[in-house]
Amino acid sequence: CALADEAGGVAFARAEAHAHALREMQMASALRHALERQELRLVYQPQVSLSSGAIVGLEALARWHSPQWGEVPPTEFIGVAERSGLIGALGQWVLDTACRQWVTWRAAGLQAPRVAVNVSPHQLRRGDLALAVQRVLLDTGMDPRGLGIELTESAVMDDPARAGQALSELRALGVEVALDDFGTGYSSLACLRSLPIDVVKLDRSFVSDLDSAPESMALTRAILTMAHGLGMQVLAEGVENEEQLNLLRSKGCDLIQGYWFSPPVAAEALAERLATGWRLAARHLSRDDGRR
Ligand code: C2E
Ligand code: MG
Ligand code: MG
Ligand code: MG
Repeated sequence: CALADEAGGVAFARAEAHAHALREMQMASALRHALERQELRLVYQPQVSLSSGAIVGLEALARWHSPQWGEVPPTEFIGVAERSGLIGALGQWVLDTACRQWVTWRAAGLQAPRVAVNVSPHQLRRGDLALAVQRVLLDTGMDPRGLGIELTESAVMDDPARAGQALSELRALGVEVALDDFGTGYSSLACLRSLPIDVVKLDRSFVSDLDSAPESMALTRAILTMAHGLGMQVLAEGVENEEQLNLLRSKGCDLIQGYWFSPPVAAEALAERLATGWRLAARHLSRDDGRR
């Protein structure tokens, strides 16, 4: 009978919601200890210039190996941290760890490029992001030019006035600012124009269907034209193959990041590779046609 079916459906949905809430609670409590128990680590993914071939940035990405849950993806535990109020401590740990790592690399004589740290919407909303960054720079003795901050387009557009203020303060410190996952939010061009941004990170979803969806290509072109017109660089995320690389290069994309060049790697492995002068092969570079 339809009524019984419906009741069963409701009971099932309730049970599922309950299981979900329980998992969230348990994971938040595990994450709280993860910071103290050193279960978190950072891996680093190179960002490469298509004009020079040099690795100009390293995006720091958080990893959590939980004894209870195994390897938990950041898309899941960052969300848990945001909802449970742990994101402040976690974000601080990420910033601190990335800066210390950069200082360690430099002290070892390595030409470590800039490290780019992801900052969550919550860290932006608190209103003391630049102050927190400044404190870490002082604590670690890091050169501000060695640090980049990535904020998602949607976090920035949530409150463009406040974000603009924070971004200006970061820039005044000498820190590079990048707009992450660009194209997935709903920025107005007028808004983007007034924001102090160095790099626009074209979202992976555009890159992944660049060769199959004409709309993605059209949007990519439009974003490149707009960003360059505003004096910003464009980095394409999630470049996985040579076809994507060639398309992006031919359209004047400045920087790429993705599995094709390298997945995120551990600090130790990265140091070894940096020491060998790791870079993009000359045949993959853009020919300088005097456009920029
Ligand atoms: P994101 O900042 O956009 O980072 C890029 C993500 O794309 C990373 O996923 C990276 O591993 C993945 N990726 C890189 N190249 C490729 C590729 O060629 N193909 C594919 N399919 N994926 C690629 P990851 O490490 O799982 O991180 C996911 C998201 O979690 C990040 O997206 C960022 O929003 C968030 N996140 C990671 N670490 C942190 C952190 O320390 N703090 C904050 N607030 N968020 C973080
Ligand atoms: Mg990012
Ligand atoms: Mg991104
Ligand atoms: Mg992304």
